[in-house]
Amino acid sequence: MIANERPVIADSLWTATANPAPNCPPLVGEVEADLAIVGGGFTGLSAALHAAEAGLRVVVLEAETPGWGASGRNGGQVNPGLYVDPDAVEARFGPDMGARMVAFAGGAGRLVFDLIGRHGIQCDARPVGWIRAAHNAGAMEDIRGKVDQWRRRGAKVELLSRDAVAEMVGTTVYAGGLIDRRGGNLHPLNYALGLAGAALRAGAAVHGASRVERLAREGATHVLRTSRGAVRAGKVLLCTNGYTDGLAPPLAREVVPVRSVQVATDPLPPEIAASILPGRQAPSDTRRLLLYYRMDRDGRFIMGGRGAYGDAATQGRLEALRRVSVQMFPQLTPFGWRHAWGGFIAATPDHYPRLVRMGPGVMAGLGYNGRGVALATAMGKLMAEWAAGRPEQELAFPVTEPQPIPFHGLRRLGVAATVAKYRLLDAMGL
Ligand SMILES: Cc1cc2nc3c(=O)[nH]c(=O)nc-3n(C[C@H](O)[C@H](O)[C@H](O)COP(=O)(O)OP(=O)(O)OC[C@H]3O[C@@H](n4cnc5c(N)ncnc54)[C@H](O)[C@@H]3O)c2cc1C
Repeated sequence: MIANERPVIADSLWTATANPAPNCPPLVGEVEADLAIVGGGFTGLSAALHAAEAGLRVVVLEAETPGWGASGRNGGQVNPGLYVDPDAVEARFGPDMGARMVAFAGGAGRLVFDLIGRHGIQCDARPVGWIRAAHNAGAMEDIRGKVDQWRRRGAKVELLSRDAVAEMVGTTVYAGGLIDRRGGNLHPLNYALGLAGAALRAGAAVHGASRVERLAREGATHVLRTSRGAVRAGKVLLCTNGYTDGLAPPLAREVVPVRSVQVATDPLPPEIAASILPGRQAPSDTRRLLLYYRMDRDGRFIMGGRGAYGDAATQGRLEALRRVSVQMFPQLTPFGWRHAWGGFIAATPDHYPRLVRMGPGVMAGLGYNGRGVALATAMGKLMAEWAAGRPEQELAFPVTEPQPIPFHGLRRLGVAATVAKYRLLDAMGL
């Protein structure tokens, strides 16, 4: 069970199958550091690992335990690239910065698998490619465009026919799709715990149960206070994504937290487990409220999709995920469902992540729009480069001033209305 979480989304398969966690005791007393990092998910832990490897004295402060947020709960899909297609990125940000951003995001999957290999992280990593499956002919047109754009940039992305997707996925519901060979999947909580262990071995201090309650400046020094201690640091990274609280206003208004949920079966008999995703890719599809699904190492089937803010509505979404799973894979009908869990992703209005200058010496990275396994890892590395002295203009992602979303308090209502509309369009197959 995920500790300190609402019961309706707390029964996580990843928590039930987690490796032993590294020892991350609460911060007690006052310490000095070159870099203090708030948040122990992929962003914060990757930043800590890379900054410690660069020789900085690093302290991570996590309110709960490493991987407690989205990083320990997600679908484990390593999907390279930004939500926005490469041509559109370059059109908006220009040939120099746009190309850097495309290379940064396109290479993020490789970075994940390289880190796992280099640090011996046990997280069922499978670099078997990532499938995007088209739910209708219109979506297939869009897929063709994506394949073309990535191939022009030399990426290993291939178009899949209707038959090829049917064979790889094990269902005939799709019109075709693509496979991005740079991607794959992993056990997300074990990846997060492995990153925490690697950061500790590289010399970083990682503290759980250490919510930062105050962030203040004293001259050139930043002081971060928890209930039992304080860190005095030259630089600060805010890595709190969909769990951003009121610590550093207006950061919480930079993104809209949106709930995503998953359900998992018990381990299936081998012949059933072999009939679904035999190559063990983890697809996402192109519905507006996309479905993402996979098998785990023990032959459990896992289905994920958009959640809701309220508990009753979330129960309804969990039930809908079980129903759609059986529609797509009727062989699942006799088997029981064991786990149900979820968490917050962080959405931005234009679907781009944000690297935000929060003041002198304070940087925030967030807003991965549900694609953070690879992107948050890459963003953490980039933030570590900044912390180690790389100038902003040399980074592979543009730094912006805070851009609080107008009428942020009403955004949840907007999300709920949009979800209802999208659900109807998806149900009509449009
Ligand atoms: C159900 C679900 C499925 C998903 N599936 C996928 C997927 O398959 N592929 C993919 O690429 N992405 C997926 N995502 C998105 C991905 O998980 C996130 O983008 C990524 O984990 C973000 O990492 P992070 O480190 O920035 O934030 P998080 O992992 O959310 O970590 C933020 C941390 O900050 C801590 N924190 C907040 N405030 C404070 C404070 N004041 N002091 C100290 N600590 C604080 C929180 O406790 C939390 O642990 C999914 C997300 C969810 C919820």
